[in-house]
Amino acid sequence: MKIADVFFSIQGEGRLSGVPSAFVRSTGCPLRCVWCDSEYTSWHPRGENWTIEQILSRLSDFPTRHVVVTGGEPMIASGIEELCAGLRARDYHITIETAAVVFKEVACDLVSMSPKLSNSTPHRREGGRWAERHDRQRLRFEAIQAFVDRCDYQLKFVVERPEDLEEVRSAIERLRGVDPTRVLLMPQGIRREDLDERGAWLVEVCKQHGFRYCPRLHIELYGNRRGV
Ligand code: SF4
Repeated sequence: MKIADVFFSIQGEGRLSGVPSAFVRSTGCPLRCVWCDSEYTSWHPRGENWTIEQILSRLSDFPTRHVVVTGGEPMIASGIEELCAGLRARDYHITIETAAVVFKEVACDLVSMSPKLSNSTPHRREGGRWAERHDRQRLRFEAIQAFVDRCDYQLKFVVERPEDLEEVRSAIERLRGVDPTRVLLMPQGIRREDLDERGAWLVEVCKQHGFRYCPRLHIELYGNRRGV
């Protein structure tokens, strides 16, 4: 697999926030979010080829049974099925973090989906050359629905401005059987001040609609640094 990082840290987002976890970060993504916080896996993908055995061996060095497979977009990574099967055989708890633009049957305990709203579209980057492709691909309702129907899931939306909430509502309406308590709203930002400002009004929205507020614990603890 083409891998950017394998490291040990704390899960910073979602239902398992705070759980010491090992992370396998694949490189390569079909999207180009304007605010992507791991550009070394998307805009400028970097990584090394690892065998599944090498990944599993590195993971065995870490004192945790929780593994988070993330990216980039891990669902397009060659070898994702084999990696997850290997993790399952070793009895790890497997979380997959995905933008849910592609569905694949893989061994998994929690699918953490993050479908992208229009605030992610890179109109102003690189002359906007990625914007149209990004917009075409960023919401794949068939893939999201397949994960909702088959997996334990959480559905995380990155919110930047109050207008985004209409898009969140409309996305949920297009899906069947979404439990609002599994919907997470996370403020967009990689700086404490942006997270604080957006978080202040977003938490009120969550209280009003029964959604879950999603802080970014790893940003609070470590800042936006690679491999922590
Ligand atoms: S989907 Fe994730 S990895 Fe891909 S560009 Fe967006 S934020 Fe970056």
